[in-house]
Amino acid sequence: MKLCMIGTGYVGLVSGVCFSDLGNEVICVDKNLAKIKKLQSQIIPIYEPGLDELVKKNIKNKRLTFSNDLKNSIRKSDIIFICVGTPTKKGGSSADLSQIYGVAKELCSSLNKFKIIITKSTVPVTTGDEIEKILSRKNSKKKFSVVSNPEFLREGEAIRDFVYPDRIVVGSNDKRSNRILRNLYSPLIAKGAKYVHTSRRAAELIKYASNAFLATKITFINEIANLCEKININIDDISIGMGLDQRIGSRFLRAGPAYGGSCFPKDTKAITSTADKFKTNLSVIKSVIKSNDNRSKLLLKRVYEILNNKIKNKKISFLGVTFKANTDDMRDSSSLKMIPDLSKKGAIIRYYDPTGYKVEFKKNKNVEFAKSLTKCLEKTDLIIIHTEWNDFKSLDFKKFIKNKKTIIFDMRNLYSSQVMAKKKLNYFSVGRGLK
Ligand code: NAD
Repeated sequence: MKLCMIGTGYVGLVSGVCFSDLGNEVICVDKNLAKIKKLQSQIIPIYEPGLDELVKKNIKNKRLTFSNDLKNSIRKSDIIFICVGTPTKKGGSSADLSQIYGVAKELCSSLNKFKIIITKSTVPVTTGDEIEKILSRKNSKKKFSVVSNPEFLREGEAIRDFVYPDRIVVGSNDKRSNRILRNLYSPLIAKGAKYVHTSRRAAELIKYASNAFLATKITFINEIANLCEKININIDDISIGMGLDQRIGSRFLRAGPAYGGSCFPKDTKAITSTADKFKTNLSVIKSVIKSNDNRSKLLLKRVYEILNNKIKNKKISFLGVTFKANTDDMRDSSSLKMIPDLSKKGAIIRYYDPTGYKVEFKKNKNVEFAKSLTKCLEKTDLIIIHTEWNDFKSLDFKKFIKNKKTIIFDMRNLYSSQVMAKKKLNYFSVGRGLK
């Protein structure tokens, strides 16, 4: 099939490349010319394990091309996936749909034959109805079908998630496009992926409800971790004991920093805003948002306590700044709250992340990127483990720490308190009692 992915970000690029690997002809389009030029030269603009090889393979097989000519790419394709961003509206909590409607307007004047228009972007319920209205201004309804096919891939595991998804959700109000999409996904269905066909509005809501539920799970265990700290219980035991219940499941049940990234923060806000619009109150999700906003403040308070409120001139080594491991995505990472706060209070911060320097901290005083883990850990007062990169999971702290007073604050509970105590390391973690 001939596919066009509009928006070549984390979702559009990964799914476009994977669709081409399944034998389809795919054009990935982006309005960002620099990004397209990089991709045409086989340089991958994002960090995603395994993507590099797949891009090269499918460019070679002539199934994958990159372009910034939107109109022409639409004309050449049968199926159009909209994969542009849907960030939070400035100063509000609803989703900013300007990129989506911008694309819909472009599509409106480019429908030279029947096309299926699919929103892969996460869009609020009724967005598909609005796209349909825009397209109907210039086109007969026989010329297009608007479908919702939300994407569930996780950054860092994106290729695996695309190839072996738990489920494929397709929301279409007509049989023809459902048949075509089932056929497009047939190689994945043959490997065991569940195919869920539903109404367009239901598919749109399934995505938001899923993300809000996962965000709730993280926030729930973070609050239970707060309780554990007060009563000297190990949160890891609680996570194991709860997670073994198949109705609960162990994933997303590990205490740590606030949830971040490009999806959960904006999607939890957007779903509550949708509910407000339809005059119903999603009070559980609203309190999840509040609790998560408070999480970074709470962990910072722990840092102040650990340092006896003497932050000025303290040397802090910050390990990992992305919102999770195996991605370079900094959007809404809790490090964006913590590092500027500690810098304002006079700390001297060196950070290390396997995905390199981050422009986000350029303006913060006394914050510098360390080119290696060893450099980052040199002569330090406090080591904060913020992101659960494999690189940080089995560090020989004895080798790095020269000053016995150096403290380790492991916000991901990567190490055992008992083992660290035996090694006589000054170690703190989350949800395991104050020491
Ligand atoms: P992104 O910001 O990485 O990429 C979006 C791309 O769209 C950008 O490169 C931008 O230049 C391009 N774009 C915007 N307007 C355009 C236009 N008119 N024509 C061509 N290109 C245009 O975003 P993302 O992280 O890939 O997310 C895209 C959507 O998928 C969002 O709705 C997001 O919520 C959803 N989603 C993201 C993830 C994830 O892990 N990142 C997972 C599932 C769903």
